[in-house]
Amino acid sequence: MLARTMSASKVEAGGLRLLGVSKMFWLGREQVPALTGFNLETQEGSFTTLLGPSGCGKSTVLRMIAGLERPDTGTIEVHGAPADELRRQQKLGIAFQDAALLPWRSVISNIRLPLELRGKMLDEGAVRDLITLVGLSGFEAARPAQLSGGMRQRAAIARALILNPAVLLLDEPFGALDDMTRQHMNVALQRIWSERATTTLLVTHSIPEAIFLSDEVVVMTERPGRARDIIRIDLPRPRTASMQRSPEFHAYVDRLSELLFAEDGRGDL
Ligand code: ADP
Ligand code: MG
Repeated sequence: MLARTMSASKVEAGGLRLLGVSKMFWLGREQVPALTGFNLETQEGSFTTLLGPSGCGKSTVLRMIAGLERPDTGTIEVHGAPADELRRQQKLGIAFQDAALLPWRSVISNIRLPLELRGKMLDEGAVRDLITLVGLSGFEAARPAQLSGGMRQRAAIARALILNPAVLLLDEPFGALDDMTRQHMNVALQRIWSERATTTLLVTHSIPEAIFLSDEVVVMTERPGRARDIIRIDLPRPRTASMQRSPEFHAYVDRLSELLFAEDGRGDL
C-alpha cells in the first residue's frame, strides 16, 4: 500500500515526504532505535494522521519535520523543499498536547506572540479573524487559567495558525480533553483545516478522531517505528458527528483496530 502511495505522488505535488528516515537515541550507554526506514508521502493540503503504539516514534517524526531533531539517515522534504527551508520561511505551525500558553498573557496576546517574536507586523484584522475561526470571540482578554481545557487548546491552535503556516503539526492536541469537548474540537479543526488547505500531520491515540479528520491514516509498527499501513478514508466532507454512527465509519474503526491491536495482541496504546 505504501508503494502505491509513493508511486502516485511522483506525478502529483508533494506535501510531506520522508524517505528512509532513521533515528537513534542514546539512553545512558544504550542506543535506542526510535525509527528505522520510515517512509511517508502525503499530498499538499491533505490531512494525515499517525496512529501507533506508545513509544513507536510518532512525536519524533513530528519533531524532525519541525527541525527540533535531526534524522540519522534519510531525507525530509516539505512541499518539494528541504524541511529546513520551511522553517526558515516560518511556514510551520505546531501545537502539542499541553497548550503551553503563557499564563500571564491574555488569549489575544498569546495568539500574537509568534508575530512579536519574529518582529512581524501585527495585522489586528487577521488576529481577530483567527479568534473568530477558533470560536474564542469575547474571550480575547481572558487569561489561560480562566479558560476551559478545550478553549486553551483552541487558543494554542490559533497561535499555531497566526503565521499562516503551509504545514500544521499537531501532537495529540486533544489528548487531555473529555470526549464531548474532543468531538467539538474535531469539528472545529476540520472547519479550520478546510478553510485554509494547510498540509496537516496529526498524532492521536483516538481511532475515531483519526477517521473523522483524515484523508489518510498511517498505522505505525512498534518501536523502531515504520509506516506499516496507509488507510485512505473515503468519507465525504464535511464530516458530521452523526456520520460517526454510520456503518462505513464503524467499518473503518474495525479495520484500524485490527491493524493496531490484533496482530501482536498487546494493544498498549
Ligand atoms: P511516541 O510519540 O510514538 O510515543 P516518541 O517519538 O516520543 O514516541 O519516542 C520514540 C522512542 O524514542 C521512545 O522509546 C522514546 O523513549 C525515545 N526517545 C524519544 N525522544 C528521546 C530523547 N530525547 N532521548 C532519548 N530517547 C528518546
Ligand atoms: Mg508522542
